[in-house]
Amino acid sequence: MIIQLKTNADEQIIAGLIARLEATPATVIRIKNHLAIPEVKTTELSAAEADVVAEMIEKTPAAVLGSRLFQPEDTIIKLPHSVIGGKGNFTMMAGPCSVESEEHVRKMAKVAKAGGATLLRGGAYKPRTSPYSFQGLGEDGLKYLREAADENGMDVITEVMDETHVDLIAKYTDVFQIGARNMQNFSLLKAVGKTNVPVALKRGLAGTVDDLLNASEYIAAGGNHQIMLLERGIRTFDNKYTRNTFDLAAVPVLQKLSHYPVIVDPSHAVGEWDLVTPMAHAGVASGASGMIVEIHDDPEHAFSDGPQALKPDTYLKMTEQVYAIRQLMDSWE
Ligand code: PEP
Ligand code: MN
Repeated sequence: MIIQLKTNADEQIIAGLIARLEATPATVIRIKNHLAIPEVKTTELSAAEADVVAEMIEKTPAAVLGSRLFQPEDTIIKLPHSVIGGKGNFTMMAGPCSVESEEHVRKMAKVAKAGGATLLRGGAYKPRTSPYSFQGLGEDGLKYLREAADENGMDVITEVMDETHVDLIAKYTDVFQIGARNMQNFSLLKAVGKTNVPVALKRGLAGTVDDLLNASEYIAAGGNHQIMLLERGIRTFDNKYTRNTFDLAAVPVLQKLSHYPVIVDPSHAVGEWDLVTPMAHAGVASGASGMIVEIHDDPEHAFSDGPQALKPDTYLKMTEQVYAIRQLMDSWE
């Protein structure tokens, strides 16, 4: 249940109400004038308690903090160079799949920036299907990524795979990416939930919408409410022509259920560069708050995910078209 408190309500009575609910026992989370009591559906209020309550919403979803019922307004994440979420904002994030070298990531940052990206992506710790594939440059990669972003006035998004790396990566990044394979790595979610670094949570390969929302709740329950949700394609019965199935219906569904910004990742969704542009068009048209896309100047020799990387010219053309679609959509409202 969610309890909306009256403004200027008696704090002593509120404290009493919280203590009574906690004694049942239940978890009570207070954020400003809202109480979230995830496991409890309803309660009888005394006359004094009723006096401090503006509204009681029964039968709330499990992912209560991320729910629109708890917070109707969009979450807006503000970084030094980017605003993510909220009406009228569209954020482009681009870069190579992996940070490959200092020189390469600098080159890619310039391209990303030229296409309007305000966040530079690149993995320094890579979740690879095979342990023999390139695993990332580690801290050196983080340094190169940070320097390349700073040189171009951009923010950084990079993946954190392991809870033991959280403090180290926090020194270099503006956004933690939680990869699809780690969507339900609850100790990692709890670890990033204790930081104040925004988190981009990718939908797991077999994650339902509710699984994704519940995973985001682990982060929010730790006190970190700067969360964005990433649709990057899911595994279905047919991966013959696309790496995954791009579930674009999940974008408006997530926006209806949750106040977090929803970002689309057409690169991992389709896995083939020539399918990325049409699905980037569809991704922006789905109403997403932003997009993350992989680029590479020499995809044949990329350290990871070469087949899905857009070459600079293709990327620049794609982003121009995406902004035109976004502009058209804005003119409808
Ligand atoms: C990536 O962003 O390069 C990545 C590994 O993504 P995902 O977790 O979606 O597979
Ligand atoms: Mn990748």
